Amino acid sequence: MNAKELAQFRKMLIELKRKLTDSIGHLHNDALKTAGETVDELSDVPAEHMAERGSDTFARDLMIRILQDSDAELCDINLALEKIEGGTYGLCENCSGEIPRKRLKALPFARLCIACKQEEERQG
Ligand SMILES: [Zn+2]
Repeated sequence: MNAKELAQFRKMLIELKRKLTDSIGHLHNDALKTAGETVDELSDVPAEHMAERGSDTFARDLMIRILQDSDAELCDINLALEKIEGGTYGLCENCSGEIPRKRLKALPFARLCIACKQEEERQG
């Protein structure tokens, strides 16, 4: 991969990282706010409203899951940026083969080539 291409992917990764960091910040704030409100409300919630609590819990679980996914994605982005510095960007972590440009353009922080990714998914 030439320097110009690397610079392009680097720019994409930094932009992705910025967006992700922003949205994680918002989610953390929302999650904290929701948790705080729930504690305040719990003391005087009539029994018939307990069903609604269920959907609150669901929303919070979903938020936590999104946060975990975003954290994992952020990790991969940082790793990809390190690889650009180290000169190993665009190589599959499993077979060391080149990851196709098309895949990297769709997923600039991809760590595996398509064949290895499919193998990983097949194994669960
Ligand atoms: Zn591979």
